[in-house]
Amino acid sequence: YEAKKGRNRYVIYTDELDVALAHRREIEMALRETLRNAAGLDCHYQPLVRARDGEVIGLEALARWRHPRLGDVPPVQFIAVAEETGLIGFLGEWVLRTACARVAPIADIFVAVNVSAVQLRDGRFADTVLRVLEETRLAPRRLELEITETAIVNADDVTVCQLKRLRSEGVRISLDDFGTGYSSLTLLKDLDVDKVKIDRSFVQMAPMADDSAAIVRAVSNLAAALGLSVVAEGVETEQQRAFLREAGCDELQGYLFSAGVPEEGIAGVIGGYPAPLPDYSAG
Ligand code: C2E
Ligand code: MG
Ligand code: MG
Ligand code: MG
Repeated sequence: YEAKKGRNRYVIYTDELDVALAHRREIEMALRETLRNAAGLDCHYQPLVRARDGEVIGLEALARWRHPRLGDVPPVQFIAVAEETGLIGFLGEWVLRTACARVAPIADIFVAVNVSAVQLRDGRFADTVLRVLEETRLAPRRLELEITETAIVNADDVTVCQLKRLRSEGVRISLDDFGTGYSSLTLLKDLDVDKVKIDRSFVQMAPMADDSAAIVRAVSNLAAALGLSVVAEGVETEQQRAFLREAGCDELQGYLFSAGVPEEGIAGVIGGYPAPLPDYSAG
């Protein structure tokens, strides 16, 4: 009886694994097909606001994918598959080019683009970024690359080299999901970054839980002392906003201000004026 029970359990387990694998495989095939013509791929934009006065100063590009059969696939799922299958290079470049082209004509707004650790390990990454900036006529200072804490902490030589090169050209680097990677705070001073984005798990707990509040304060103070800007992500309530401003965060982002919007929604979130269209006539 025991043996049979064990066996059954084993069978159920492999069935579940098979289903998960089949699903991944299905996502991979569909993603390959999508990347051939970018149909179904989209880019949404979530505002970053200045904590002091609530002014929108930047937009973060967030990849979206709708497949005819699979429906809306969440980014965490298709990004993971893209990373495992080597498709992230194409996908990442598509998002970068789309977002830079869209934001370039909007004066005084920067664009933040998420970059995977896998992209950074490709020695051509920095060249690609600089080429896209030229093609879309976006000044390097107006591009911010969001890289997770884990990716930066585990950076290999290729990655370090390219980040240095991009920074020397004026591109800014932002440490995404900070606090989730278990790296030490003292490490911040050795990293080649411009900004720290405190993960939403601390941001959302901060007004209620003393330990999260202490973490947010400590990160803000240290970042300020090191000359880095501090962003809080996942701000959903007025209470959180008030706390974060008082704790010294420079920028805020979250559903309290706006979720990611499709490109037609950008004008609405940056002040209600229609954004000027790209001008390709000059030069
Ligand atoms: P992230 O870069 O940390 O982006 C923030 C995520 O939190 C986004 O989810 C956003 O929609 C969501 N969010 C924003 N404000 C709030 C809030 O107030 N409350 C809550 N609960 N959530 C909020 P999304 O779009 O599903 O993206 C998830 C992750 O997928 C991103 O996390 C990023 O790591 C990755 N990702 C998205 N687009 C790209 C991309 O183009 N390239 C790469 N490499 N990764 C991407
Ligand atoms: Mg991000
Ligand atoms: Mg983040
Ligand atoms: Mg996050």
